[in-house]
Amino acid sequence: MIKLKTLRSLTLQNLKNKKILVRVDFNVPIKEENKQKIIQDDRRIRNCFATINFLIKNQAKIILMSHLGRPKGEKNSHFSLKPIYEYFKQNTIMSVDFANDCVGQEVEQKINLLKVGQILILENLRFHPEEKKNDIQFAKKLASTVNIFVNEAFSASHRSHASIVGVSKFLPTFAGLALEKEVKTLEFLINKPKKPLIIIVGGAKISDKVDSIKNLAKIADAVLIGGGIANNFLKADGLEIHKSYLEDNPVSLNQVKDYIKVARRIIEKNKTEKILKDGYIPLPKILYPIDVVAAKDLKSSKTQIINLSHDMKDTANDLNLMYLDIGPKTIRLYQELIMQAATIFWNGPMGVFENPLFSKGTKEIARTIAKSGAMTVIGGGDTISAINKYNLEERFDYISTAGGAALEFLSGKILPGIKICIINQ
Ligand code: AMP
Repeated sequence: MIKLKTLRSLTLQNLKNKKILVRVDFNVPIKEENKQKIIQDDRRIRNCFATINFLIKNQAKIILMSHLGRPKGEKNSHFSLKPIYEYFKQNTIMSVDFANDCVGQEVEQKINLLKVGQILILENLRFHPEEKKNDIQFAKKLASTVNIFVNEAFSASHRSHASIVGVSKFLPTFAGLALEKEVKTLEFLINKPKKPLIIIVGGAKISDKVDSIKNLAKIADAVLIGGGIANNFLKADGLEIHKSYLEDNPVSLNQVKDYIKVARRIIEKNKTEKILKDGYIPLPKILYPIDVVAAKDLKSSKTQIINLSHDMKDTANDLNLMYLDIGPKTIRLYQELIMQAATIFWNGPMGVFENPLFSKGTKEIARTIAKSGAMTVIGGGDTISAINKYNLEERFDYISTAGGAALEFLSGKILPGIKICIINQ
């Protein structure tokens, strides 16, 4: 079990009048409408409120720092954190100010003028190339005028960046309240899940997900695979996938082949059939679609259901097909298994859910997870947009704001941003 140095261990005595530098993740989707920047999903901002309120209650001075998007190490107003500052002004009663940079004279002056309970939001860390390089001098500058560092950015904790790992070298470091909750929930999923544990993984990026599938397969009772990544498993099983999606940005053809090899090894390792709680069908642990919704391309309005089997016959018509959603038989099979689970973790849509023609798999699986009696944990940007779209948000026990970081954590890695908060690391 990971033992964190948590913010909860600090009291009024430790915090009163102290300047607390908090690394948050305000990397939220922002859209420009009528020259106004509108935050599309504020979950990551709301996620930090418990820590901020704890610090206010304990009369600390709060400095919030974050990245936003990919400004490539240069100042770029498109990626400014000002809309977040506006959000705080409009939606909270907190006393907030904004600094036009994250280091330098203006920042130092503003920090020194802060009164207890006040908040200063710093400009985007990634306007400086040193942030991503974990430059120690840059980290030293960030840490120079404050007393304590709190990491409240679980979703950025898989990165060894200056504002996470670098800063911790200069300051007493603690885990924020939301980060602590995230670690505990995901750890519980790996160590003490109520069985049967069912993992559902979809989406497109096999490169991001393959390690967590490998690790979770060791503890799960069933792993249900859908989305674009299922194509790797179908191909590994010797089934035809025609023009279906394999990897969004393969470095080389060899890399695509490698993932198929890895998928084959995962299938082989988990072949032993087992029967879930009150199920009657013996099944291998790793399951991938038995049928799919296919079309010639993403814009096509003509779809067809293809039953996948080793003796399926291809017609000339099939050769250009892409598999874009799980089919009705797969939905039924996955639903039956989901209803038997005691714990469920879900990451990644079952198909190209942005297009209504290929959204049925994701919608049906989301609804089934929501109505199951299991403890349900979901994570990842697209999975969250899917449940928002189907108004199911309130029906899950825990929604992780982290995509990549949660998957790396579940693959058994100790993330650099967590390591710095561990007792006696
Ligand atoms: P990820 O970021 O890996 O979770 O991938 C999410 C994306 O996967 C979504 O934008 C979906 O449209 C896409 N996706 C899901 N299923 C498929 C599929 N069968 N073929 C291509 N893309 C897919």
